[in-house]
Order: sequence, then structure tokens, then C-alpha cells
Amino acid sequence: MTDTALTPSALLAGLPARQGFGDATLIRLAPGAIDLGGGNPSTDLLPLDVYRDAFHEVTDSDRLAPLLKYSPAAGLPELRSAIAAREGVSSERVLITNGGAHGLALAVLSLLDPGDLIVVDDPVYPLFLRVLDLIGVEVAAIRVGSDGIDTDELERRLREGLRPKALFTVPTFQNPSGVTLSVEKEAALVALAEKYGFTIIADDPYRAISSPGFVVPERRSFRGSDHVLAVNTFSKTLGPGLRLGWIVLPAALSERVTWLRNRLDGQTSGILQAVVTRMLADERLDPSISAAGAEYAVKARALTAALRAEFGNEVEVAEPRGGFFAWARLIGDVDFTRLFEAAQDRGVFYQRGEWFAAAGEGYRGFLRLSFSEVSSEDLTEGVSRLALAWRELTARG
Ligand code: PMP
Repeated sequence: MTDTALTPSALLAGLPARQGFGDATLIRLAPGAIDLGGGNPSTDLLPLDVYRDAFHEVTDSDRLAPLLKYSPAAGLPELRSAIAAREGVSSERVLITNGGAHGLALAVLSLLDPGDLIVVDDPVYPLFLRVLDLIGVEVAAIRVGSDGIDTDELERRLREGLRPKALFTVPTFQNPSGVTLSVEKEAALVALAEKYGFTIIADDPYRAISSPGFVVPERRSFRGSDHVLAVNTFSKTLGPGLRLGWIVLPAALSERVTWLRNRLDGQTSGILQAVVTRMLADERLDPSISAAGAEYAVKARALTAALRAEFGNEVEVAEPRGGFFAWARLIGDVDFTRLFEAAQDRGVFYQRGEWFAAAGEGYRGFLRLSFSEVSSEDLTEGVSRLALAWRELTARG
């Protein structure tokens, strides 16, 4: 008999396993453990009534049957125009996706070839690096400062000859650092992209989750440039189980990216698109998202207050003004692998800073702590468990 062993593609055979962030084997969640690792919204801050009414309206109407047919690859026209109106762009540039990760994969497949160079945030959203595994590209890391990716450093590197095809950044309430790209840096970034001919992939899932009073930049420079591909998702506002997002494409690419999409999954669920179109027209929706932002701000304060109370001058942390995460640095001569283990033994899980390093090593002593899903009481309790683990290790020296 001939050998019938399966021979996968080089892409499949070569895919690295998830390491660090997203590697479920590293997580030990005993009953009663407090999980500060996740990126889920709080279920009690989701607009469930708006959902239910929209579902009923769609499923009870005679639109249900036609919505079960194939629908356009770029998305339902009414959803594309509702999103286009919110984004301030023409609806031809909007493509509906099955969530942010899908949008990022389409962006990578549309912009990069094997061996190309991409600049990314450092620290970076680690799952974007896993999307890059689809292509096999070189990565250059540029530090994220308190107002976003360091455009001065980027400019210096470009002058020295760095020639990226694309740049990836999370401009608002960055994952993991929580910082927001300033309007000045946004304009500088666009100027560099246009001068040196690269495309910015702006991944902005957290922009709608902001503290009361924080002015989220409108991203006029991004919107006005044909060197920006903006990826977004409803996962943080309407829930990741929905699997719906969108891309704002450079006009010159929109037709071809739709062809690409046609060759992958064809389309996003027509029914879900109709439901979300209805939700976007519901006047209760935006106030409920703003109200959720205020509740998340209360949780963020509880978390940072607990960290400062427990760790004093052994912690550096800024109070997040939006998004889901605090990015804290613990200062001390501690084995942070042991801290991570000891914290889990005490019943608290977090994401280690090292897992967000864009290239090589870094962020030792940093922790990404998620406050979105956990109550203020559990945030405080989680931090006190972490502090117990910390004291145990620092006492031992
Ligand atoms: N980008 C960033 C920065 C994210 O934090 C996430 C979700 N954690 C995504 C993209 C993926 O979004 P989705 O769940 O819609 O695929």
C-alpha cells in the first residue's frame, strides 16, 4: 500500500502554536479564581433589550426569508451606509466583516507579501502577530509612549532607511497599554505613511468605550488619507459572540478586497447584519454604550486604587480613560514567572507583560489587568491576592 499520510500545506505545517498570550495551557483557573486576563465586555453592560427588540423586528417581519439568501460580499447596503455615516466616509469604502480578527486577516492578506516589513506597536496586541503568521513577514517594533506610537522614533528609522509596507497600531485605548494616539501624532503618522508609501492598519475596537469627559480623537487625519485601512468590530460594545465588524478601506482597494473576501468566506450573516442595522437606528443604543463607558470607568478606578493601596511605590500605573485594561508595572527584584504562578495559586490570573513584546524580550514586571468583566469588589480582591503573592516572593528575596 502507498503511504497515505496527510501532507498539509507549508503554511499549516509551519504555523507556530500560540505562545504566552492566548495559550490556554498556561491558565489555571480554579473555582473561585478571579480572571483579570480576558477581553470580554461585562455581560450586564450589553444592550440586551435593544438586541431583543431588533431580533424580534427582523425575525417577525417578511424580511426574514430574503435575509436567508446569499447577500453581497461587502455587506448589506443599509448596514454599510449606517456605518459609513458614523465614520464620515462613503459607503463604498465600508466592508462588513465577521469581527476584528477577520478584518485584520483581510488587511494583512491585502497589503503584505512574504518577506515584507511591517512596523507594529511595542507593546503590541499579540494576536496581530499571529495573524502575520499567515504571510511570514519581518516585524519592526516602535515604542508606544503616553500618547501613542513614537512618531519621532519612526521618522528617524525611516530616514535611516527602514522601508515598511505597512504599520499596525491600535490608536485608542491601546491593547495593552491603554494609551491614546494624540491628534498631532495621528497627523504625523499619516504624513510619514504618505511620504514613505506605507499603509497604516488602524485597529480601533475600544474607541467607543471611554470614561465620561474624555474626548476621543475623531481621527480626521486617518479618515482623510488614502494610506489608512481602518479595522473595527462590535465585539467590545455588542459582544464578541456577535462576530460582526467592519473595515474602512482606501477607495483604491475596496473592490479588490471584496473580491478577496468573496474567495474566503463569501459574506457575513445577513440576519445578523439586519439586526445590527436595526440596533444602530435605535435611539437607546448610543446612550447605553456611553453608560457602559461610565461603568467601566468606575471599575478602572477601583482597580487602580486597589493597586496603589496594596503596592504603594512598588507600582506604576496610569488610570485608564477607556478600553478594558490597566497596564501596570511592578517594581522589585522578583522572578516574574514565579509571581505569575504564585498569583494563580492564590486565585488570580492576569496577562504577563512579556507576552506583549513586539520583538525579542521586554516588559518584564508589566501586567495587563482586565477590569471589564469583573465587579469592583472582585477587582479589589484580585489585587489583594496578587499582593499576597508579591509579598511572599519579595519577603523571600
Ligand atoms: N484588535 C484588538 C486590539 C483587540 O483587542 C481585539 C479583541 N481582543 C481584536 C482586534 C479582535 O476583535 P474580534 O473579537 O472582533 O475578532
